[in-house]
Amino acid sequence: MKNYNEWSQMAAALSLKTQAYIDGGYRPAADGATLDTINPATEQVIAAVASCGDIDVELAVSAARRSFTSGCWSQRTPADRKRVLLCFADLVEHHSEELALLDTLDMGKPIADSLGFDLPSTVETIRWSAESIDKVYGEIAPTGDEALALIQREPIGVVAAIVPWNYPLMMASWKFAPALAAGNSVILKPSEKSPLSALRLAELATEAGVPDGVFNVLPGYGHTVGKALALHLDVDVLAFTGSTAVAGQLMQYAGQSNLKRVWLEAGGKSPCIIFADCKDLEAAAATSAYAIFSNQGEVCIATSRLYVEESIREPFMKLLLQEAAKFVPGDPLDPATNMGPLVDRQQLDRVCAYVASGAEEGARLLVGGEPTSVQGKGYYLSPTIFDQTHETMKVVREEIFGPVLAVDSFSCWQEAIDKANNSDFGLGASVWTSSLNKAHRSSRALEAGMVWVNGWAGGNSSTPFGGVKQSGNGRDKSLHALDKFSELKMTWIALDGLD
Ligand code: NAD
Repeated sequence: MKNYNEWSQMAAALSLKTQAYIDGGYRPAADGATLDTINPATEQVIAAVASCGDIDVELAVSAARRSFTSGCWSQRTPADRKRVLLCFADLVEHHSEELALLDTLDMGKPIADSLGFDLPSTVETIRWSAESIDKVYGEIAPTGDEALALIQREPIGVVAAIVPWNYPLMMASWKFAPALAAGNSVILKPSEKSPLSALRLAELATEAGVPDGVFNVLPGYGHTVGKALALHLDVDVLAFTGSTAVAGQLMQYAGQSNLKRVWLEAGGKSPCIIFADCKDLEAAAATSAYAIFSNQGEVCIATSRLYVEESIREPFMKLLLQEAAKFVPGDPLDPATNMGPLVDRQQLDRVCAYVASGAEEGARLLVGGEPTSVQGKGYYLSPTIFDQTHETMKVVREEIFGPVLAVDSFSCWQEAIDKANNSDFGLGASVWTSSLNKAHRSSRALEAGMVWVNGWAGGNSSTPFGGVKQSGNGRDKSLHALDKFSELKMTWIALDGLD
C-alpha cells in the first residue's frame, strides 16, 4: 500500500474525467452546466463536473435504446458478454488504485477501505455477474403431449441505475454488472456527491469492448437528471439505491410515466441484539463498534440500534466504549486512518441535529457528539454513543447515516425481538448468541432481509442483499439480481400444428 505522501502525489497528478459519457464518448452537459464536487477532508473543490439535464437524458436514453435494439449487446451470446465483462473486471482491477483514490477524494472514505474493500468488491461483482450469465438455463414447463412450453429469460431494455455516494463504485456495480450481463443497456447516474469514479469507469467499459451506447454515465443532481430518467417513457427499469424518501418519489414517477419496473434498495435502521449467552463478548463489542463506526457510519446496514441483555449490560458497555475509542478521525489519504470525514457539510449538520435531538429527548450521551476537524479542516464527527434510549426517540426511529449508536437493553427474548422489529425499516439484523435454538428463532422472528448470527454484514456474491418494509424491495447480488434485469418470456408451442 502506498504511504500518505505517495497517495497525495498521486491525487495531485490525477487527470479527472468530468464530462458525461454518452454513446461511447465524453461530452459536456448540453447546456454547459456544471456542479462542483468537494473533498470533504479538505473542503476544497476537486472539479467542476457536468451537471446533466433533460437534453442529456434524451441523448443517453436514445443511445441506450439504439444499442439495445441493434442487438450489438443484447443479442450477443451470454458467453460473449461474459468475455467482455471479464475483461472489464480486469481493467477495473488494474486501475484499482486510481478508482479507489477517486472515491476517497470525492466522499472521504479512508483509502485503506476504498482500496481494501470497495474496489475488490466491485471487481468481484463484475466477475461474478459475468461468470454466472452463461450458466443460467431456461425452463420447460410441465405440459401434456399436445404442447411444449418454454420459459426463457430475456434482457428488458434500458436500465437506469441511480446510486448513492457511500460506496460509489461498489453500489454502482451491484446494478450495472448484472444488468449488463443480462444483456441490457445501462445509464448510470452516480450521486452528485461522488461522480468521479463512475465517469472514469465508463471509458474502461468501452476499452473492454462494451459497445457504444450500452454503458452511459450521466452525472448531475437527483431532482434534474435523476428525475428525468425516472419519468422517461423509454426507460424500462429503474434500479435504485438511496434513501427511503427518494425511493418513494421514484415509485410515483414510475406511476406517472410508463410503469417502469422500480427496484429499491433504500434506508435502514438495523438492530443488533446481544444475548447474555453470547460466547465472545469481546468479538461482539468489536463487531458492534465496527458496524456503526466504519465508513463513518454511512452504511445502509449499519447496526445503529443496539439491544443488550440486562445481565451483561455493564461488562458489554465497557468493552464497547474501548472499541469505539479505536475509531479516530484522520486524513483519509493516510493508510492508517480508519475514520474519515462525513460526505459534506450538509450531512454533518444533519447528523449533528440528530445528536442534539437525542440529548433533548433524554438519551444519555456516553461519548462523542461534537464535530471535529483534522488539521483544521473537514466534516468530521467522532464515534457517538447514546445510552438509555427509548423506542419513541428520533435517534432510534430515523436513519441518521452517521457514526451515532443508540443503545437500549432488554430482559427476555420476546422483548428483544419486539424492540428490534419496532421500526419502519427492515434491512439487516445482527444476533449474538451461543444457542442454536435462539439463533434460528430470532432469525425467523426478525423483520429483516438479512440476519447475521454472531457477526455483521456476512455474505458474498452468491448471497442476496436487500430489505423488507421501507428498506425496499428486490435483491442485489446473487442470481436473484437477475430478476431485476430480465423478463420471463413464455412460449407455448401447440405441437399438433407442426410438421
Ligand atoms: P439519496 O436518496 O439522497 O440519493 C440517492 C441517489 O438518488 C443519488 O444519485 C441522488 O442524486 C438521486 N436522487 C435524489 N433525488 C432524486 C429524485 N427526485 N429523482 C431521482 N433521483 C434522485 O441517498 P444518498 O444520500 O445518496 O445515500 C444515502 C442513502 O442510501 C441512505 O438512506 C442509505 O441507507 C441508502 N443506501 C441503501 C443501501 C441498500 O442497499 N439498501 C445501500 C447504500 C445506501
